[in-house]
Amino acid sequence: MENSRRLVFFGGAGVSTESGIPDFRSETGLYQSMTKYGRSPEEIISHSFFMKDPVMFYDYYKNNMIYVDAKPNPAHKALAEWEKKGILAAVVTQNIDGLHQLAGSTKVFELHGSVHRNYCMHCHESYPLAYIMDDNNCKNGVPMCRRCGGMVKPDVVLYEEGLDQQILNGAIEAIRSADTMMVGGTSLVVYPAAGLVEWFHGSNLVLINKDRTNLDGKADLVIAGAIGEVLGELSDKA
Ligand code: ZN
Repeated sequence: MENSRRLVFFGGAGVSTESGIPDFRSETGLYQSMTKYGRSPEEIISHSFFMKDPVMFYDYYKNNMIYVDAKPNPAHKALAEWEKKGILAAVVTQNIDGLHQLAGSTKVFELHGSVHRNYCMHCHESYPLAYIMDDNNCKNGVPMCRRCGGMVKPDVVLYEEGLDQQILNGAIEAIRSADTMMVGGTSLVVYPAAGLVEWFHGSNLVLINKDRTNLDGKADLVIAGAIGEVLGELSDKA
């Protein structure tokens, strides 16, 4: 890190779980969703299901994917600090909670979108998270556009939807020109995580994860641990 000037951090669900945001793809997440909704998270937060049953979609979404009180943890804070110091070039994240920006990061590629951006499917008017969480703006929990009455959709990449090409390209460009790539809080199985690492041609690939990943053999350094703890400790020393 001392010699890095273009560090790129790639983070998965583990970065958010340490802020109290559970991974809906985990076994517990699957169990809870099957018990309450009789469907898997993948089915409910798919594009076709959103169109077919927005009431159930929003019930699941608001109760399982939105954590308005979540705060940045030491991992978010360390990354924001490294950006200020000129060490870190960008954060690439699969999380949708906006906690990197809340911690102060400005160069963030949100591959799966953000719960903080929402827009009317009809007139494209945009709305903050608070708008869709306010029952006064909703019909059976489904947020409606104040301007035209159209349905409001979160700017989150649902299953069956493609990634935003511009964001993906930005992430690839950052990774391609990085001298160090740090990957944390992801088992690297969720698309497109594993593929993105292949764009990295710098000197140091660092993996930080509680469990083993299938890229451990390729890494220059593997740290087994919780991402918040590890980055928090690193930050104290940097
Ligand atoms: Zn509208």
